[in-house]
Amino acid sequence: MTTSFRRSSALRERASQVLPAGVSTSFRAAEKPVPLFFERAQGATMVDVDGNAYIDYVCGFGPIILGHSHPEVAEAVARAAGRLVQLGGQHEGEVELAERLVRHVPSFEMVRPTMSGSEAAHAAIRLARAATGRSIVVKFAGQYHGWLDGVLGATRRLPPLLPESLGQPASALAEMVAIEWNDREALERVLTGSGDQVAALIMEPYPCNGGVIPPEPGFVEAARELTRACGAVLIFDEVISGFRLGLGGAQRELGVTPDLTIVAKAMANGVPIAAFGGRRDLMELLVDGRVSHAGTYNGGGISVAAALATMDVLEREPVHERLRLLGTRLRDGLVAAAARHGRRLVANGPGPVLFTWFLEDGEVRTFRDHLRADFATYGRFAELMLHEGVRVIPGGRWYLNAAHTDEHVDATLAAAERVLAQLAPPA
Ligand code: PLP
Repeated sequence: MTTSFRRSSALRERASQVLPAGVSTSFRAAEKPVPLFFERAQGATMVDVDGNAYIDYVCGFGPIILGHSHPEVAEAVARAAGRLVQLGGQHEGEVELAERLVRHVPSFEMVRPTMSGSEAAHAAIRLARAATGRSIVVKFAGQYHGWLDGVLGATRRLPPLLPESLGQPASALAEMVAIEWNDREALERVLTGSGDQVAALIMEPYPCNGGVIPPEPGFVEAARELTRACGAVLIFDEVISGFRLGLGGAQRELGVTPDLTIVAKAMANGVPIAAFGGRRDLMELLVDGRVSHAGTYNGGGISVAAALATMDVLEREPVHERLRLLGTRLRDGLVAAAARHGRRLVANGPGPVLFTWFLEDGEVRTFRDHLRADFATYGRFAELMLHEGVRVIPGGRWYLNAAHTDEHVDATLAAAERVLAQLAPPA
């Protein structure tokens, strides 16, 4: 089947005159054969400007949990748009949202909304440094906490920690240390050796960037104990896992409560909002402004209305249970389909989010394993899937939403069979 991307290509050309790379965020430039332009997205499907329809597993890079343009969220947004967009003052919805976040997320005693995960991570780290009077922040290689200077390191490669962007001063990472995920020894070494200088340990407790790589049993628990012992603040970045794995995020599932948590993406089904929160004594450092945090749009009417409507649905309907069943069926089906075509596909993830790799041997238990995968072949797989009417992230991650059905999964598996048959045989 040949699919035409003529109008997307023309728009990309036009966009490139006024938008660098023709896109609004650099990650989107990776889509092949061309970053697509869309006309509409509804439920589990999207239609591009050439009229091609896709079953969508990009889900806005994570936020879409209920399905695109969910009617309840759309209605709440429309109501807010006609009543309270931007007040420069408070409204009751912010309080209700904060109360519900505190009810659902175990570590939240108080919260503060922001507009993006990057900002929320920045704020949480600032709070940790303020509370401890220390400066070192420890992170895990492969994990991503936003694009800002102070955290953008070792996201795509192993330590040493080096700036990943031109214009990012080396000094921005001078007070950060990167270690490897699931490396218990390194964790102990850094938190016992120089623990008295560590302000914070930041982690995706259920990592989704750099591969969906579950923590080894006891690893997150050890991080909790070691940070407590050395007086460092434990920060969970649940920008992806929050509200996607369940209403209480990875922390409820793991039974480990950090000091601070960042949530974003699935919280409002695609409408921009994020939040950081946690221990009352830490959050109260914001009360008198000694720790500075601001944002013109924080707690805006539209974002809050979308988050409340999203939470209404997630509280009422068994979305997460369904996504686990459906995602597991998709994951296992992809692995079996690949095997039928002589390919070894490794897949991780509980269902609402998955990761797949073409890998010659072994499993993916560390970021090092992730880096061994054949990303060139996977990129080709993703591109061919587009021609079959299925949109996946070229790097290997898959997101499901509540509008995906068994029929969508069947169609996706059938498409994967056809694409696997077209890929050149493994070397
Ligand atoms: N933290 C994690 C785990 C993320 O995956 C992301 C974005 O993908 C961020 C932080 C940054 O969030 P944002 O893109 O909203 O700034």
